[in-house]
Amino acid sequence: MNASIADNLAQVQALIQAACLAAGRPVSAVRLLAVSKTWGADAVRQAHAAGQVAFGENYIQEAVDKIVQLRDLPLKWHCIGPIQSNKTRLVAEHFDWVHSVDRLKIAQRLSEQRPASLPPLQVCIQVNVDGGATKSGVVPQALPALAQAVAALPNLQLRGLMTIPEPAQSSEAARVVHRRARLLLEALQTQGLALDTLSMGMSADMEAAIWEGSTMVRVGTAIFGKR
Ligand SMILES: *Cc1c(COP(=O)(O)O)cnc(C)c1O
Repeated sequence: MNASIADNLAQVQALIQAACLAAGRPVSAVRLLAVSKTWGADAVRQAHAAGQVAFGENYIQEAVDKIVQLRDLPLKWHCIGPIQSNKTRLVAEHFDWVHSVDRLKIAQRLSEQRPASLPPLQVCIQVNVDGGATKSGVVPQALPALAQAVAALPNLQLRGLMTIPEPAQSSEAARVVHRRARLLLEALQTQGLALDTLSMGMSADMEAAIWEGSTMVRVGTAIFGKR
């Protein structure tokens, strides 16, 4: 038992509220995604008992085991990790959201494999906003074409963008990178895509991300503890 998950959640929510106030944004504009990777179903149950509904997972098979164990709870599951072609069916069948689409082939498979009995899979495209060493994420130049193609797939609903920038030297530097993501989202909106989600900001850069328009921050360690 970790009796402090509820306390940790309350603290993270308080940080989000303070950042929204500082940025002049309504508190309701930013949602918290609790990243439960490596933690068991019990920890997720505790977080749910404290009011948390949306959970993020990186490792697909681990996540599916947890999702099955927790079917009795009305949770929303977000895939935030890299997706290989041979894992798309598991993702399409078990998750509500995917933040980490960065190739059309993966999006096509997710759309084809999404069961007809489920609502469209909610999708964000992962963008490499800072040219970081991580191989994940589409480069900004290729984003408009990928976004239009993903938006046209029948069983997906494109919601916005996701970023995982390299750790920044300062909050100003973090804001510069997050601003780039917001401008990319706005450019897609100008091109006619109805997008409402910017999944950006983790524990270290949450304030900077919220200042620049994040609508979903992803936090693991500060809620569940050190992995
Ligand atoms: C693990 C992870 C998080 C959460 O990181 P913490 O340091 O545990 O808060 C957020 N986003 C992604 C994509 C992750 O893989």
